[in-house]
Amino acid sequence: MRIATANEGAKPGNGDASSAVTPIRPAIAISFEFFPPHTTKMEQVLWQSIERLAPLLPRFVSVTYGAGGSTRERTHITVKRILNETNLTPAAHLTCVAASRTEVDAVVRNYQAIGVRHIVALRGDPPEQQQRFQPHPDGYANAAALVAGVRQIGDFEISVAAFPEVHPDAHSAEADLDNLKRKIDAGASRAITQFFFDVEIYLRFVERARAAGIGVPIVPGILPVTNFARLKQFARVCGASVPNWLARLFEGLDGDPETRQLVAATVAAEQCMRLKEQGVNEFHFYTLNRAALTQAICHILGIRPALPTPNDYHLATKE
Ligand SMILES: Cc1cc2nc3c(=O)[nH]c(=O)nc-3n(C[C@H](O)[C@H](O)[C@H](O)COP(=O)(O)OP(=O)(O)OC[C@H]3O[C@@H](n4cnc5c(N)ncnc54)[C@H](O)[C@@H]3O)c2cc1C
Repeated sequence: MRIATANEGAKPGNGDASSAVTPIRPAIAISFEFFPPHTTKMEQVLWQSIERLAPLLPRFVSVTYGAGGSTRERTHITVKRILNETNLTPAAHLTCVAASRTEVDAVVRNYQAIGVRHIVALRGDPPEQQQRFQPHPDGYANAAALVAGVRQIGDFEISVAAFPEVHPDAHSAEADLDNLKRKIDAGASRAITQFFFDVEIYLRFVERARAAGIGVPIVPGILPVTNFARLKQFARVCGASVPNWLARLFEGLDGDPETRQLVAATVAAEQCMRLKEQGVNEFHFYTLNRAALTQAICHILGIRPALPTPNDYHLATKE
């Protein structure tokens, strides 16, 4: 199956704006993050979401790499399918966890061979039984080393992670910024932030990054909250704060997913609108493989399908 659009053959973002069949990219750039599915049902959900979100012409769609490299195969399969069956530009997440340089390099070369041109280069988190990250004895020590390794292999676009509220392993906020700068100096051209909820936290972080000489786009990672209890757990691990005002908004909604969805969309849309007012024109959405919330937020931001009607998009059987 492939997702075909009227601009058949033109990769979004790579097109010639003067061409009659090339849709005009919205002024706000967006990207979507998905995770590789591990059941047939989840695969269906993912592909329905991709089909719904594709007409919004994301600059790229990224596919995560499971903790400890646990989804290596599934990440590869999903990225390959996006490449072969859609007009979207895939970005493959890759981590250094539990793999030698030779193994990681082989994954990168494989991506290069099939035509993937964008890698999201990450250190990764330690496996559950380990307290701290331990590099593989023959592996990349951290994300900066991985960026340098990927850069040596080919001319990839490389994105890296950034932490507006400081990564839990960092000795200080300054050390964390130095680390981000090392990743950029090694060849990354974009930073995508961990999720955050207070707009001020992001704005102050960008200010500090600019003062530290980091000039690349620092794209806010937007997480529409669907499960507040899980969010609190996840935020604890990755060092993001969950403001009291957010907790109050989700109070009493544990058994009411429908209202939670509406609240989540409102919160994330307001966050994006405030960022937009501050001049932010690029957003990365953690979709959790669900289209509805991200689609609603994009709609509020003024991002609409590039072609006149959704009927211009259809699924057709690949010959
Ligand atoms: C946008 C985004 C996408 C992500 N996708 C995935 C994914 O697909 N799969 C996954 O498993 N995880 C993913 N993560 C999580 C990420 O792997 C973890 O946050 C991990 O703990 C840190 O990765 P990093 O690439 O930021 O590491 P690094 O940039 O290497 O840094 C990690 C920490 O170590 C410190 N550090 C690094 N090198 C040095 C040094 N030489 N000296 C001193 N301190 C140092 C840094 O300051 C920082 O505090 C993602 C995170 C983000 C924000």
